[in-house]
Amino acid sequence: MAGPRVIFHMDMDAFYASVEQRDRPEWRGRPVIVGGMPESRGVVCAASYEARRFGVRSAMPSVTAGRLCPEGVFVRPRMDVYRAESAAIMELVRGFAGEAVEQVSVDEAYLEVTEQVGGEGGHDEMIRRAVPMAEAIKAAVRRERGLAATIGVGPNKLTAKIASSSFKPDGLTVVLESGKAAFLRPLPAGAIHGVGKVTEAALARAGLTTVGDIQDCQDDLRAYVGSWWGELRRMAFGEDDRPLDFSDDIRSVSSENTFARDTADRAVLRGCLREQAEEIAGRLQRHRLAAVTVQVKVRYSDFTTLTRQVSMEEALEDAASIYRLSCWLLGRHRLVARPLRLIGVGVTGLRAVTMRQMVLPFMETRR
Ligand SMILES: [Mg+2]
Repeated sequence: MAGPRVIFHMDMDAFYASVEQRDRPEWRGRPVIVGGMPESRGVVCAASYEARRFGVRSAMPSVTAGRLCPEGVFVRPRMDVYRAESAAIMELVRGFAGEAVEQVSVDEAYLEVTEQVGGEGGHDEMIRRAVPMAEAIKAAVRRERGLAATIGVGPNKLTAKIASSSFKPDGLTVVLESGKAAFLRPLPAGAIHGVGKVTEAALARAGLTTVGDIQDCQDDLRAYVGSWWGELRRMAFGEDDRPLDFSDDIRSVSSENTFARDTADRAVLRGCLREQAEEIAGRLQRHRLAAVTVQVKVRYSDFTTLTRQVSMEEALEDAASIYRLSCWLLGRHRLVARPLRLIGVGVTGLRAVTMRQMVLPFMETRR
């Protein structure tokens, strides 16, 4: 897309937990942990900001969450409620941005408002003109849905996304075209779109830990990060011309094994899941993707095939989490009640690895 653009990135704050707190006023201000019960073998799907202060994070075993936060309010997820809420919010957002909405996940979307603000004046001026619209969207979501949204405003997807991740909850952060490189400078290298753990480690070996380090680096670092180096440098300066993606084809990564002989042997099955999880994590990392949904698939001797899945509020990309969640799914749904002919793991709800929130020092401060 040619010409200056204005993009919003909207992200609901602690979405699942906030819906629960909205619907149960007595839980407001308390650490709400959505997922399994603390005495169960469940996992945490989402945590309210109050719970995050105790160190509770999504994809963590519920037992650990119970230990970190004994006073936590543990709530079973109501996925159908969250999905309906998500649809209502996206509908509301379309009232402002029209069809130029790319929904990235249940609680996250990019909006292109270039046309609404018009092309007069310089790029910075266009971005400034869009700020009242971002304020109006936040107010409408608060008024009509009773929930807090954070919005980042910027000249492209990269900067808008990082802007929204910078100040949460209830944030509104604006990055101007003229200020984008300076805005990115102090951030860790992992803040850049596509820099996962592997690339971040490679960059650190070359002495580059912040986005500013990448901006200042005069060497060709192809040896460290491959042919991607040129694009990485451009992104470090806040350059990004990716259009909104309206294709809603479901992408997934999966791995499965058929056994020569049906088996219910836990050690064999766990070994299998571990390998599959590692293979999937490797593929995700190569494509710089993370996934919100983990699915296991089993097939029995009579060819009955079952799949069970679990979704996290935040995307994950590491083999250990994928493995842990698949083992949990097997146990939770008693899928190994008889021998298996096939076992498989898959992930869906894929999105680009961007901000890894834990590395951002000023996360959760208000504007
Ligand atoms: Mg969110």
